[in-house]
Amino acid sequence: MGTFIRFLPGILLLLAVAGINLCEAKNENKKIKAMIIDGQSSHGLWPKSTLMLKDYLEETGLFQVDIARTYYTWQGPHHNAIENINDITELLDMYHIEGMVTEKVDEPKPDPDYKPEFDQYDVIVSNFGWMASDWPENTKTAFKKYMKNGGGLVIVHAANNSFGEWEEFNEMIGLGGWGGRTSESGTYIYYNDQDELIRDDADGESGAHGAQHEYIVMTRENDHPVMKGLPDKWLHAKDELYERLRGPANNLTILATAFSDEEINGTRNNKGSGRHEPILFTVQYGQGRVFHTTMGHMDYSLECVGFITTFQRGAEWVATGKVTQKIPVDFPGIDASSSRNWRK
Ligand code: ZN
Repeated sequence: MGTFIRFLPGILLLLAVAGINLCEAKNENKKIKAMIIDGQSSHGLWPKSTLMLKDYLEETGLFQVDIARTYYTWQGPHHNAIENINDITELLDMYHIEGMVTEKVDEPKPDPDYKPEFDQYDVIVSNFGWMASDWPENTKTAFKKYMKNGGGLVIVHAANNSFGEWEEFNEMIGLGGWGGRTSESGTYIYYNDQDELIRDDADGESGAHGAQHEYIVMTRENDHPVMKGLPDKWLHAKDELYERLRGPANNLTILATAFSDEEINGTRNNKGSGRHEPILFTVQYGQGRVFHTTMGHMDYSLECVGFITTFQRGAEWVATGKVTQKIPVDFPGIDASSSRNWRK
């Protein structure tokens, strides 16, 4: 008995710790399961941006995030001077993921064994980009089935450059740019100055952007769960303004636009479309929901509180059909952008 009493505090402590662990396990089970897919993109930043996206989701307390990377990794040259590196592939080592076995290649190369378990997740976030290799046929089929049956997909910036020839992917993302897309790839969709929604099948390129700059994002669907409570207009941090995207644009709802001016900061913008281009939009694909943000060219673009907030809310909406998150106090207004410095 004496021995038991002597050990009692320890036993109680163990029981308490076990209890906490059980609670944590319970909460983990309740979390939204997200998977970021990546491995090949013209935007060589991706090893870093994937971890930024992972953090942004996890900091809400709502998500548990895994990463499914292709075995062959390719990082294109699209990056600014970041992190004082000489070679963009150094980013893959700097932002290494424990236990992830990959092989760097100089050209995009298909991974025949790429088979993420889509079914295990509530939302898939694509951080692939321009030039990403095609997936194996059975992986494409599995993804289509996952989405048709009520899966969730978030497309970030250059993720809409990939898989230009894949018809079902283009249906999911609604609009895309580059990646072999042509006039045949579908319609342009935008608002004109009279606030009319225009679908335009004119011949022309698929995907363009002018010089990077800060731009005003304008809400078009105040009552959509992702947008509810956000200001009508706010200033986004420096980024590319994607324009002239094309696609089937079926079951597509534009949540926010940005005006692609023919002038940027007093300088002629050769790419300026003079249209209010879709910046945030949703697509209903079968029973599946898609949230598409064209923002996010560089790390400083992703650090914008406007990007972060709409990304977090879009991912929750895709997974659950609802948004429970509050608008942060540092959300940008119309006069000044607002950014948060991200560190690993
Ligand atoms: Zn870009």
